[in-house]
Amino acid sequence: MSRITELIDKLEKNRILSKEELSEIISEHTPETDEYLFARARTVRERVYGKDVYIRGLIEFTNYCRNDCLYCGIRRSAEKAERYRLNEEQILECCETGYGLGFRTFVLQGGEDGFYSDDKIVSIVSLIKAKYPDCAVTLSIGEKSRGSYERYRQAGADRYLLRHETADPVHYGKLHPKGLTLENRMRCLSDLKELGFQTGCGFMVGSPYQTAENLAGDLLYIHRLQPQMVGIGPFIPHHDTPFANEMAGTLETTLLMLGLTRLIVPNVLLPATTALGTIHPKGREMGILAGANVVMPNLSPTDVRKKYLLYDNKICTGDEAAECISCLGRRMESIGYKLVSARGDCKKY
Ligand code: SAH
Repeated sequence: MSRITELIDKLEKNRILSKEELSEIISEHTPETDEYLFARARTVRERVYGKDVYIRGLIEFTNYCRNDCLYCGIRRSAEKAERYRLNEEQILECCETGYGLGFRTFVLQGGEDGFYSDDKIVSIVSLIKAKYPDCAVTLSIGEKSRGSYERYRQAGADRYLLRHETADPVHYGKLHPKGLTLENRMRCLSDLKELGFQTGCGFMVGSPYQTAENLAGDLLYIHRLQPQMVGIGPFIPHHDTPFANEMAGTLETTLLMLGLTRLIVPNVLLPATTALGTIHPKGREMGILAGANVVMPNLSPTDVRKKYLLYDNKICTGDEAAECISCLGRRMESIGYKLVSARGDCKKY
């Protein structure tokens, strides 16, 4: 037993460690201790979810954004971004295709686009829930007032994804323009949780200026919030942003953070992200083997996919939804897991 594997055992048992201990794992882990962690994470995951991998149909319905996050390819200042919006009918078509392919969760994601007023969002959510009462609707449309979140929830939205991005206010300030604060981001997350959304926070691995202590802080925040979902993917530079020449996050650290997150929140819904699949051809398979249990294939119409580019070289932008699902199905089978057609709610354990 090494010091690091002892810490991993302690984390599995207590679901939390001190910031110093978490930082120690993050700075001192080795390929051997990673294998140990991933085996523990898989055991925990399989106790709650077996070998099932949940699928979410991602509908990227607008790439207009009023914000100017320094890392993001669809930030307001990204002048070369070709902007688009999907109308209600196009969004419902995506759901129809998705439903036929077995999707029982639809994720509506977009920039913070004022064109979609609360009335419009409420209308879209209500229409989807009326037509597909057996499906979950997830929103991922950024920071809103508590009152807006309340309206989405009443309209039937089940889940909300809002990555906290980094739990350190100083680091947060280096990734975002003035006016966007960690404080408001966290306010949104506690509102969402209180309103009864299955709530997802999360962060990028390897974002500029990030330290091991920052990552430890992200894990402590996750432990405090007790979210039902956590989105973790590598930062990948986008050529038309201030971070164009920064380094991407690594596969190793991303997998490490997935494994640690599984031990901290055993029943968490944890996607092996598209960004992870972008930095390594087998990234999503490795993510599942490190403790993830969700994949989020793209359901957006093929003609807009190349326009929703948060980062460079994004995969699957040319494929039809049906191709994505059969490709992922094969990939999961190759590692002994199986895609399931289910809402895939967060399980009690
Ligand atoms: N506007 C919504 C949706 C954001 S896009 C919101 O504010 O929540 C979803 C996630 O993509 C972001 O939370 C961010 O963590 C991630 N992302 C953005 N740019 C990225 C990049 N360059 N590399 C990797 N992930 C990125």
